[in-house]
Amino acid sequence: MKKIITFSLIFQLIVSILIGHEKKSDPLTNCIHSECGIPNEFKNLPYAVYPGTCKYSIDRFNYNKRFNYFPKIIFYPESDQQVQFLVKIFKKYHLEFALRSGGHCFEPGSLSSDYIVDVSNFNKIIPDVSKEEVYIGAGSELKNVIRTLGELDYAIPTGTCPSVGVTGLTLGGGIGFLCRQFGLTCDSVKSIKLVNAEGEIITASSNSHPDLFWALRGGGNGSYGIVLGFTFKMHYVPVVTYYELLWEWDINLLKPIMKTWQHWAKTLPDSVTTVLGVRHPNFMCAVPEESPPLVIRIDGIKVGSEPFTEWKAFEKFNPKVIIIKTSYLDSVKYWSNESPLPFNKGKSKIMHKPLNDKTINKVVKFFKKLEERNPDFLAYFDFERFGGQVATNDSSFFPSQAFGWWEQAYFWEFPEQTEEVLALSRTFYKSLSNKKFPHCYANFVDYDLGKDYLFRYYGNHVKRLIEVKQKYDPQNLFHWKQSIPPAKCEE
Ligand SMILES: Cc1cc2nc3c(=O)[nH]c(=O)nc-3n(C[C@H](O)[C@H](O)[C@H](O)COP(=O)(O)OP(=O)(O)OC[C@H]3O[C@@H](n4cnc5c(N)ncnc54)[C@H](O)[C@@H]3O)c2cc1C
Repeated sequence: MKKIITFSLIFQLIVSILIGHEKKSDPLTNCIHSECGIPNEFKNLPYAVYPGTCKYSIDRFNYNKRFNYFPKIIFYPESDQQVQFLVKIFKKYHLEFALRSGGHCFEPGSLSSDYIVDVSNFNKIIPDVSKEEVYIGAGSELKNVIRTLGELDYAIPTGTCPSVGVTGLTLGGGIGFLCRQFGLTCDSVKSIKLVNAEGEIITASSNSHPDLFWALRGGGNGSYGIVLGFTFKMHYVPVVTYYELLWEWDINLLKPIMKTWQHWAKTLPDSVTTVLGVRHPNFMCAVPEESPPLVIRIDGIKVGSEPFTEWKAFEKFNPKVIIIKTSYLDSVKYWSNESPLPFNKGKSKIMHKPLNDKTINKVVKFFKKLEERNPDFLAYFDFERFGGQVATNDSSFFPSQAFGWWEQAYFWEFPEQTEEVLALSRTFYKSLSNKKFPHCYANFVDYDLGKDYLFRYYGNHVKRLIEVKQKYDPQNLFHWKQSIPPAKCEE
């Protein structure tokens, strides 16, 4: 399987290089002047990647290879001044551009056919143990954050995919295994350094531009400026217990386990995070060779050295139990994983309340069908409990009082599968009424939501987010398909 995937990725890369060359045959001589819409100021910049190079052919793609864009230039600024310069030129010529950190947006929100500003060179991580805070550059990947802090027995709450960028994760909220103990990723932010629509460097914090600071934490992706870095409060986490309860697929077990989990999850101390996953197949299991193709899994971590006895509520269902007490850094190898498959689609629902029997029946039915089809793509549904410190959130991440969220993700290998997977994800999603589940997680960007996306992502925070946008970027310089509009663009 691994060999096939590697071969397929290499093949796609070669094809992409060839296609790139074919469509942009001699870009350096033909395109870098104002007659083709590229300003002279952008000519021969040392930190720009132009079409026709091998790097361009690779870098024009995001993590999700579903999107095939040919930007005019991809910029990799290395200094604050270079970012300021780019903003001034974009503004001067009214140019379209996208912002990219880790490139993990589920839709092409960080891609553009015009210009891309990729902040991956802003990747410094500077912890200060005496102050229990850390400066993290906007282009840092989670795995580097987790490793650097973990070596000091510290952490910030992050998501579980190691190559996700800290910026996208934080500006949209940030849900992960430490969030019940310490809140969302955005809750640990102390200040945010960014270049605003005037091309100025400003810092947003509770004392400086507090309205912008509020908006950036939850509704901030690509709407208010180019973030250069964050100062986070870091948390001392020397010991955790990683746990996994695993069941071989049995359709009759799913409903009672879900019902028990929903009740149980409400009784847990803040130190325990829990995710109920229904996966086909369970490629992210801690012991993959022992995992059957279709599984029901409950996993999470308990922060601190207290034994994890809470799992006994599931003893009657006779699970396979994995309990590992270790350092936070070491625990990462059990819960942090990513799919090797090139194409993906994410969808989500906020669960304001636990699911009722009718909805659980729909989930069971969906997986029964999947079991019968035994498809050759990955499909997983993860139900994650909020509560704990998530409920104390005071940022623009609006569903903090909800019971939890429901993540649906699909990964596949070949472009020919795309239509089938997308159709399946949409059919199932439509069967969940928007009346009962009106809201979604802003970081699971889903273009299927259409014009309704503001309400779906931001609920009763929409008006305030638009006011902040109007104040800081009334010309809507920073925009993409699902950004926050200034007042005059509101539909
Ligand atoms: C495999 C996978 C696993 C995931 N797991 C989790 C999880 O466990 N928990 C969770 O909460 N989320 C998770 N996510 C969702 C993830 O948090 C979002 O996709 C996030 O936006 C990705 O951030 P990025 O920087 O990698 O993405 P990018 O594609 O680079 O950017 C995402 C958005 O941020 C904006 N942006 C990028 N850079 C800047 C900048 N410098 N300034 C201002 N705006 C900028 C872009 O405009 C874009 O809208 C997962 C996603 C994937 C694909």
